Amino acid sequence: MTPQKTFDVAVVGAGVFGAWTALSLRRRGPSVALLDAYGPANSRASSGGESRIIRMGYGPSEIYTRFSLRALPLWKELFARAGRPELFQPTGVLWIAHENEKYALETLATLAKSGARFEKLAADELRRRYPQIELSGAAWAIFEPESGVLMARRAVQCVIEQAQKIGVEYFPAAARPPASASGPRLVEIATLDGACISAASFVFACGPWLPKIFPELLGERIFPSRQEVFFFGVPPGDARFSPPAMPTWLVLDDVFYGMPNLESRGFKIAHDRHGPLADPDSQSRAPSPDAVAAAQNYLARRFPALRLAPLVESRVCQYENTSNGDFLIDRHPAFENVWLVGGGSGHGFKHGPSVGDYVAARLLNSNDPATEVEPRFSLASKQTIQRRSVF
Ligand SMILES: Cc1cc2nc3c(=O)[nH]c(=O)nc-3n(C[C@H](O)[C@H](O)[C@H](O)COP(=O)(O)OP(=O)(O)OC[C@H]3O[C@@H](n4cnc5c(N)ncnc54)[C@H](O)[C@@H]3O)c2cc1C
Repeated sequence: MTPQKTFDVAVVGAGVFGAWTALSLRRRGPSVALLDAYGPANSRASSGGESRIIRMGYGPSEIYTRFSLRALPLWKELFARAGRPELFQPTGVLWIAHENEKYALETLATLAKSGARFEKLAADELRRRYPQIELSGAAWAIFEPESGVLMARRAVQCVIEQAQKIGVEYFPAAARPPASASGPRLVEIATLDGACISAASFVFACGPWLPKIFPELLGERIFPSRQEVFFFGVPPGDARFSPPAMPTWLVLDDVFYGMPNLESRGFKIAHDRHGPLADPDSQSRAPSPDAVAAAQNYLARRFPALRLAPLVESRVCQYENTSNGDFLIDRHPAFENVWLVGGGSGHGFKHGPSVGDYVAARLLNSNDPATEVEPRFSLASKQTIQRRSVF
């Protein structure tokens, strides 16, 4: 990297939030540098998985339904422009619920209010459509026909390719944490290889690394947790676990979710419960035997035809949880030109385009009252005790 460069904005972190922020900023005119220590959507990053769900339902949290509704066409438009429409897989998303499941009822109300497309499936219709799922305890479901799966790692790389085409400069470089006493404006960041990037504004979109970069501020406000994802091989020639027969699914009571056999990589399943505290630099990416066994038991229970399915791939990464699952998108309290963007909390990926637009609008129009920080995204709202309420 050249030793000294100057930009309007420097974005640190090329995961989904940083990539879309860089693209959204550049589309509005400023010069933008984008840095990543390990590479865009690398295998340590939260955005580095193969696939991520994009759904509109969010219980009572209308703000995320709106963000998601806005994000999906922006993803599709970007993929179309890049000639990569396969990076969105329109599998549909099926929410399976018990009789009076509060979160599902709230989701239904929010979807109806926001104009999202959905169907409510009664138990008999659910069983008729999905005989390959063992539905004991399930009373009804919500089906989002237009939702589906983003092919995550490649989607982020596609965003960055498009951003570079319009002038974003990408640097493979690790930023050193800014000295906390050097406010009120950050002038430059130094990188581990001895270079320097100067900018008028900075965005730190470092996902689960944010607590390491700002330990005093975020060390107790973002909790990276170990999360494991498994892909099981489907029986030969069996179409029941691939689209269109099998949608992306969530069983709310079980806190498990999964995806059909996409691109023949296997039937994906994951437990959405938070795992132990994880270090994104050094945690082992080998699957834990207990988590594999739990996934196999679950498969045998809900998808009996897959009870002997072999594990064909696994991924271990981390959620970057805030206290309740709301994003963190706010100014650094000591630096008026530094934005903190993160706290995706296991559900952030889909929102990349909306987050990018949101950050760009606030960073570039800081005097416009219409661009005040959403209270749910504020640093002040982030507690030091975890009480998850956004899923
Ligand atoms: C198993 C799993 C399943 C998930 N499922 C879904 C889902 O189905 N749907 C959904 O919407 N979301 C999902 N999520 C959440 C989503 O993936 C994350 O919220 C999102 O990817 C976070 O993106 P990010 O850009 O904030 O962080 P990251 O992707 O982690 O990016 C941060 C980047 O910062 C870089 N970096 C860190 N420190 C430095 C430094 N000092 N200098 C330069 N670069 C640095 C890192 O290398 C990294 O590339 C899931 C997450 C996991 C782990």
